[in-house]
Amino acid sequence: MPIVKFTMAKVSINLATGSIQKEELIVGIDLGTTNSLIAFINPENNPQVINDMGKGVLVPSIVHFDSNNGEIKVGNEAKEFLITDPQNTIFSVKRLLGRSYKDIQNYKNFFSYKVIDDNTESLVKIKVGDKFYTPIELSGLILKELKERAEHALKTPVNRAVITVPAYFNDSQRQATRDAGKLAGLDVLRIVNEPTAASLAYGIGLNPNETKTIAVYDLGGGTFDVSILQIQNGIFEVLATNGNTFLGGDDFDSAIVDYWIEKNQLNKAEVSNNQELSQQLRLKAEETKKAFTHQSLVNNKIGEIWCTMDRTTFESLILSKVNETISCCLNALNDAKLTVEQIDEVIMVGGSTRIGLVKKMVSDFFKRPLHNQVNPDKVVALGAAIQADVLAGNRTDILLLDVTPLSLGIETIGGLMDVIITRNSKVPTKAGRQYTTSIDGQVNMKIAVYQGERDLVKENRKLAEFELKGIPAMPAGFPKVDINFLLNADGILKVQALELRSGIKQEVEVKPTYGITDEQVEQMLLDSITHAKSDVDQRMLIEAKTEGEQMIYTVERFLQKNNHFLTDIEITDTNNYLQNLKNILLSDDKDAIHKSIDNLNDFTRPFAERLMDEAIAVAMKGKRFE
Ligand code: ADP
Ligand code: MG
Repeated sequence: MPIVKFTMAKVSINLATGSIQKEELIVGIDLGTTNSLIAFINPENNPQVINDMGKGVLVPSIVHFDSNNGEIKVGNEAKEFLITDPQNTIFSVKRLLGRSYKDIQNYKNFFSYKVIDDNTESLVKIKVGDKFYTPIELSGLILKELKERAEHALKTPVNRAVITVPAYFNDSQRQATRDAGKLAGLDVLRIVNEPTAASLAYGIGLNPNETKTIAVYDLGGGTFDVSILQIQNGIFEVLATNGNTFLGGDDFDSAIVDYWIEKNQLNKAEVSNNQELSQQLRLKAEETKKAFTHQSLVNNKIGEIWCTMDRTTFESLILSKVNETISCCLNALNDAKLTVEQIDEVIMVGGSTRIGLVKKMVSDFFKRPLHNQVNPDKVVALGAAIQADVLAGNRTDILLLDVTPLSLGIETIGGLMDVIITRNSKVPTKAGRQYTTSIDGQVNMKIAVYQGERDLVKENRKLAEFELKGIPAMPAGFPKVDINFLLNADGILKVQALELRSGIKQEVEVKPTYGITDEQVEQMLLDSITHAKSDVDQRMLIEAKTEGEQMIYTVERFLQKNNHFLTDIEITDTNNYLQNLKNILLSDDKDAIHKSIDNLNDFTRPFAERLMDEAIAVAMKGKRFE
């Protein structure tokens, strides 16, 4: 298969730099838990982080919704509201991306805003005022801010991006990141692992002939990750990841605050209740921590409170936390079945790796000098910009592997496209997902295969359709149908459907590139950008409606089977909630639908709990077909 390259050939002059731009810019984005950044390759051919109007390169990953005028603020301007308006200020949304309520149950108290559970299996939502937002929409707002800053600073449209994610992100979290990009009006050419990007920023992995094993140690504001990667022929393989999603610079700040509280003989509870003082102490602690990079003693006062500390004390306060990260490194090495001697390079990422003690302990553990010359806040974004440049075809020294030009997927309930192999995936590739039925006793399942970037299958190109027949009659949600896509090096796609309980299977083969020209592919890509916003809106509406319909189906069935279990009043009230949801489903108001689902769910949850009906729990799982 030839290398398919999509240069939307346009010659333009970049007004900011005065240089001729042969191709539309592709930016690299580090969408972080604490901070996000956007970078590009400047006319001197160096990766550079964008600083729009001196606003700073780090954009705090925080979104504030003004409940009075509906204004949305992102970044530093939103950060101020963390203390004064916590319910309407969303931080750490990356922790929720692509996650179900079940995934986050253990740390739901971490969030000061409202995280909604309306079905433990489906993705979480966030309630702000009387609106519901998905983490995808919220991340989309952060990405949109970054895109606008880049457009403003570079005076050129920015429509294409590479976005980084942690190496441990699963399919659902990666898809959510892509969707967030789409919502921001970005064509996400590739999702790249953060450690891979960091390594590219150090030029490691750019030479197609080198083979290396590297460790990437990433200590940020709230999270710690270590990844062991193997690089061979320009391909990065993740051998192991380890870490702690609740360990980072924030913990060091609190350790300092606690120390001051003790030294000044303050009452901890009183301090926590005084929001302003807590915030002042926290900010002073962060400032002190950062100062230790250059000085060994900090002397300060907040009113009558002495905020003094020396570096040795600071190091003793954080020692056990840093030790914990070292244990994670050891675990990662063990999982990768490697010894420290087999690691060729160690790369430091994240603001907290500026701490001397951290550098020393990591270097001692790996028994080698570290790569920490590139600014650890920026290194991931810079690497993402390099990856973007590779994709743009500007680096001839790099092997561009065969990629699939358009996404491949199947139709799911509501006529939605469920992507199984994303575009720009290297071939050969294999991917799959599990599906189930939506109706009791359903014995056939239609599987329609599509190609394209639009959210609704009717806008995409249909490649094949077949029916998986003879599924044994079971309640909705019981059958387990694995659908696997195998795309070989010749561009032949094999689609297999297998019902796991009965073993029945069916498959087809198609050649997705057959009968489609490069111009048509280009047009399809352009259309997907033009329609991105309306597509995602439509999809979210359809998803809300589908969720509502499933909820009605489940609750009605529950009532039929178990009405003896409920009081007459409970039955009447449930029916009222059901009727309300049915009425609202006729509208196109996504928020109202979520609200109504939420109400019905809150009301009926105790019944389900009372009954512990297993069948219901199972029936509420997973995606469904019509
Ligand atoms: P994330 O990847 O979670 O978005 P970052 O990599 O941006 O986070 O790291 C942010 C953290 O780095 C914050 O806790 C910040 O206080 C810390 N940090 C930044 N500079 C320094 C420094 N000089 N010394 C110690 N910690 C620092
Ligand atoms: Mg980071």
